Amino acid sequence: MFCFHERITGARGTIQVAFTDREGGHSTGSMGSLNLGRTDVDELAAVRANGELVRRALGAELLVATHQVHGREVLVADESFLSGWGRDSWLGEAAGGPPLPQADAIVTDRPGIALVVRVADCVPVLLADATGGVLGVAHAGRAGVDLGVLEATVTAMRRLGAGRIEAVVGPHVCAGCYEVPPQMAEQLETRHPGIRATTRWGSDSLDLGGACGRQLEALGVGWRSVGGCTMTTPVLHSHRRDGDGAGRLAGLVCRVS
Ligand SMILES: [Zn+2]
Repeated sequence: MFCFHERITGARGTIQVAFTDREGGHSTGSMGSLNLGRTDVDELAAVRANGELVRRALGAELLVATHQVHGREVLVADESFLSGWGRDSWLGEAAGGPPLPQADAIVTDRPGIALVVRVADCVPVLLADATGGVLGVAHAGRAGVDLGVLEATVTAMRRLGAGRIEAVVGPHVCAGCYEVPPQMAEQLETRHPGIRATTRWGSDSLDLGGACGRQLEALGVGWRSVGGCTMTTPVLHSHRRDGDGAGRLAGLVCRVS
């Protein structure tokens, strides 16, 4: 179920930090058994059951997810937002609820709430101030890195009182696999020096994980990477590898008492 799972003990409870893989769930077919994203091509009942498995494994009361649009909007999951949020709300319209809020990051200082970021090659980043109990997740794909979604997330966490923030960068398509057109690599390199890289076969690529690390350092945030290339690791979801049939893995962070 988890390709990475760690518990960090803080002054305000335990912080659960996890990334899911394709195993141990209820989905069937090409996307593996643990898909937490696709409700259009997967069975809604399976996705809902997968979410329940993960929620219970983390000891969370609720999952909070967004409709990710490759932007830099941050959803603040505060008391007033959560008052209208139920157990199936993370499934959005697919489960007959209201549409999910559009945002590529979520922050909270509330306990029991598992913030969810869903990816299949983009970089999932989990952030926590374990002392203050302020948490964040961000969807940092090529657009998010370029637009500064991590900066927006850290700013929102500090507004909630976060002090020292540590980040965990999750599995994503690696620089050796993430081929892009030369012009795109060049343009991004001018704005984010060091992002241009080379694929294993010698063409232009982007090192999204490295770029996230540099952005976090510039923000004064400590970080580490759990490793794992989504494209070459069969147990992880990858859009580049599996196309429109790809499921989604989730990065989750939650404070439990
Ligand atoms: Zn790779």
